[in-house]
Amino acid sequence: MNTKEKPKYSVSRLNLYEHCPWAFKTVYLEGIPRAADEARATGQLLHAMVADYLERLIATGQPTDWVWARLATPSDGHPDVVEMWERFYNTFTLPPALVAPGVERQLAFDRKWEPVKFSSRRARFRMVLDFHFRQGSLAVLIDWKTNRTMNGVEKDLQLLAYGWGLKQALYPDVEEVLLRLHFLRYGREREVLLGPDDLKDVPGMLEEKIGRIEKDKHFDPAPGSFCGMCGVTAHCPVMSEALAPVEVLAPATREQAEKAASLLLTLQKMEKELSARLKEWVREYGAVQVGDLVYGPSQMVSYDLTPQNVCTTLLDAGLSREEIWGLLSINKTSLEKGLRKISRQDLFDLALKTGTVRFSERIDFYKTKS
Ligand code: SF4
Repeated sequence: MNTKEKPKYSVSRLNLYEHCPWAFKTVYLEGIPRAADEARATGQLLHAMVADYLERLIATGQPTDWVWARLATPSDGHPDVVEMWERFYNTFTLPPALVAPGVERQLAFDRKWEPVKFSSRRARFRMVLDFHFRQGSLAVLIDWKTNRTMNGVEKDLQLLAYGWGLKQALYPDVEEVLLRLHFLRYGREREVLLGPDDLKDVPGMLEEKIGRIEKDKHFDPAPGSFCGMCGVTAHCPVMSEALAPVEVLAPATREQAEKAASLLLTLQKMEKELSARLKEWVREYGAVQVGDLVYGPSQMVSYDLTPQNVCTTLLDAGLSREEIWGLLSINKTSLEKGLRKISRQDLFDLALKTGTVRFSERIDFYKTKS
C-alpha cells in the first residue's frame, strides 16, 4: 500500500476491494468521489427517513405516527422512494417496551478490535447499525434493505460483522444475535440467528481481508459486471486502454474477439455513466450541440392507460372483444410482475402454459457459472 497513513475500513470498503482493487484505491486512497448512483442515493435517503421516524417513535413512546410520517413524505421524491416509504410506515409498528434501543448507531473498533469512539484517531474499523434493541438475552439487529433482489439470508461477512460489532460494543452479555433484514421495497423480512460459533472468528476474517489490502502493491483493475456500479469508470485504465486498439473493430482471431468483447462491455458500462454525468451537466447548464444534433431536454408525452377503461370505451364504441384482445399485450415479465403484485404467483405457471413457447438465440453477456 502506497500511502503513509493506513486507511480506515468498513464492510462496504472491503466489499469494494473485493469487486475491484483499482476502484478501492481510486476512491479510498486517492480520495476521488464516486459518481452519483441512483440506487445508492435511494438507499441513503430512505435510511435517513426511517431513522428519523424511529427516533420519533422511541422518543414519544408511540408504536406508529402516521400523521408525522405522511408529512415527512418528500413531495418531489422519486416514485420509488415514496412507494417504499409509504409501504414502510403503513406496515411498521415499533415493538413495545424496547430495551436499550439504538438507531443508526455508529460503532468503531481499534487495531485490537476493542470498541473506541467513532471519531477516535484509533478507530480502524467502523460500522453503522440501522436499528437494534434487546429482548431478554437476545440482541436484535434490523437492517433496512432497498435492493431489488431479496436473497436468502446467508451468513455473509457483512451480517457477521454487524452481529459481532453489536455484541462486542453494546451487548457483551448476550448469547445470540437475531439479525432481521427488512426489505423496504417489498415490505418483507428475513431473519438469521447468529450464535457464539458464528461470531467468534469475525475479527480474524476481517483481519485477513484487511491484510490482503495492505499487502497489495498494484491494485489491479478487475473489469466485470461491477463496472457500471463502481462510480469511477472515468478514472479506470482498462476503460481508456480498451478504446485504443483498432483491430478489435473487425476481429479475425479469438484473441481479437476477446478484446472486442472487452471493448463492448466497456462501452456499455461507459455509456451508462457518461450519459448520467452529461445529463447532470445539461440540467445545470443547458443543451449541447454536436454537429447537427442537440443533446438536451425535449418534451415527452406519455399516458397512463387503465386497461379496464380503455376496453369499456372501445366496447361502447362498437369494437368486438376479439378486436380489443389484439390491442392488449402481455408478456412473461408483466404477467409475473402483475401476479406478484396481487400475491398470486402460484398462478404464474398455469397462465404461462396458455401461451406457445418460442425459442430464439440472443448473443449478449451473461455471468459464468463458477
Ligand atoms: S470500471 Fe471496472 S475495472 Fe475499472 S475501476 Fe470500475 S470496476 Fe474496476
